[in-house]
Amino acid sequence: MKNVSKVKNCFGCGVCAVSCPKNIIDIRLNDDGFYQPFIDEPDKCIHCKLCVENCAFLHKDLALENRVTGSWCGWSNDSAVLARSASGGIGFEIARHLLHSGYKVCGVRYNANERRAEHFIADSEDALAATMGSK
Ligand code: SF4
Ligand code: SF4
Repeated sequence: MKNVSKVKNCFGCGVCAVSCPKNIIDIRLNDDGFYQPFIDEPDKCIHCKLCVENCAFLHKDLALENRVTGSWCGWSNDSAVLARSASGGIGFEIARHLLHSGYKVCGVRYNANERRAEHFIADSEDALAATMGSK
């Protein structure tokens, strides 16, 4: 395979697009509503195969499914956070810890006017509260 232009029904992860030195791979929705790579200007391809080599869909050994993995679970001990969060509040607690350590946190909140989720930077606990239950 020379490049990912013939790949269908892949993960739609976009790794091929960021790997391409010619920046000619566009990730967009196919007719079935799933993301996949498109190369609109195939003449610009230099056949370096970086897109193919970095694709976990084409190289199952790159995928996590063939590796030993661990899993952990956690939740907030703060009943107010638990009540407002969609999945236990552990994300909020980690972000709160980072805020108190001097970091800013990139989160997702629901924009009711636009009727969509959006990323934003939280620099306080009040701002971070918008991430709870946003999804
Ligand atoms: S890297 Fe592979 S799985 Fe990911 S979008 Fe490109 S072709 Fe699809
Ligand atoms: S083979 Fe190289 S230049 Fe061609 S699409 Fe893939 S990464 Fe881009």
